[in-house]
Amino acid sequence: MSIFNSMITSTLPFLPKWFAKPFAKPYVAGKTEDTAVSHINTLNEKGFATTVDILGEHVLTKVEARNITSQYCHLYDRIASESLDCNISIKPTHVGLDISLAEAMANFTSLVKKAQEHGNFLRIDMENSLFTDQTFEIYQHCKTIYKNVGVVIQSYLHRSLDDILHLANEDFNSRICKGIYKESESIAFQSREEIKDNYLSLAKTMAAKNAYSGFATHDQDLIDRLLIWIESENISKDLFEFQVLYGVPMSGRLETLLEAGYKVRVYVPYGPDWFDYSVRRLKENPKIVSYVLKNFFRKR
Ligand SMILES: Cc1cc2nc3c(=O)[nH]c(=O)nc-3n(C[C@H](O)[C@H](O)[C@H](O)COP(=O)(O)OP(=O)(O)OC[C@H]3O[C@@H](n4cnc5c(N)ncnc54)[C@H](O)[C@@H]3O)c2cc1C
Repeated sequence: MSIFNSMITSTLPFLPKWFAKPFAKPYVAGKTEDTAVSHINTLNEKGFATTVDILGEHVLTKVEARNITSQYCHLYDRIASESLDCNISIKPTHVGLDISLAEAMANFTSLVKKAQEHGNFLRIDMENSLFTDQTFEIYQHCKTIYKNVGVVIQSYLHRSLDDILHLANEDFNSRICKGIYKESESIAFQSREEIKDNYLSLAKTMAAKNAYSGFATHDQDLIDRLLIWIESENISKDLFEFQVLYGVPMSGRLETLLEAGYKVRVYVPYGPDWFDYSVRRLKENPKIVSYVLKNFFRKR
């Protein structure tokens, strides 16, 4: 499967967009803010909280980084005016971290002030390990302005437990995910079991520190293990929520979680940059090709 994945990944940029669309379409809530808002409304009506994200990353000009920043500010206004159950998640390189830390800091300052104006929440996504330290710096800067800001911890990184020990308290809110980028074995666990075991340790450490976790995963076995721990230790529902990416099939699990009274949040990405973004994602991690194909055939 991996040679096949790599073949698809390397040829995709040269193929017409109609061919690539099946790989991206189920996971993208359209190209415009209007289409995304319509998907968010539908999800809210079904009882799901949401997080919205404009697709894109690694912008290389200040003009573009500031343009994306104003689009996000406009989104905060729209979420407030339409009373959506939705917060915002932003990749630091999408608002300038690849240009300079100062550029990203300035843009995040505007964003966090906008979140504060509306009493909303700002999540800072975590990208590859080149940006981890600077992302925590941005997080800490935002936190001095407004308390409703959260970051992301990746369970494949060896450093993550220390990061939680250093940062977590009752005012800390972190999404915990496995991590999507390719990282070397000198800094990251490579085996699925180690990544999952570390995920559970991170979850337990967060709860022990009364910090709030977003358990971001589609891995049913990991969700089972989290639930066994949550139920046996009577972990308060005020301390966590489950999070998934829009469009990933979950075989009714999300509805079961909602029925059991758990909070479930769907991460809704949209935007005109869907093609470049999807190709970059596939190149970064060709394993996604097999997810998409598996899900594609499962639906038929
Ligand atoms: C809400 C949310 C936010 C995230 N934010 C970040 C972030 O900020 N930084 C970061 O590094 N990573 C992020 N991720 C990605 C995460 O790190 C994992 O790479 C990804 O979720 C796959 O791991 P898994 O736990 O779902 O388990 P896996 O065992 O990898 O996946 C379980 C099953 O889910 C399905 N699946 C998983 N991912 C996909 C996909 N992309 N497309 C289609 N099907 C899929 C497949 O059927 C797969 O068999 C986020 C994930 C979620 C759910």
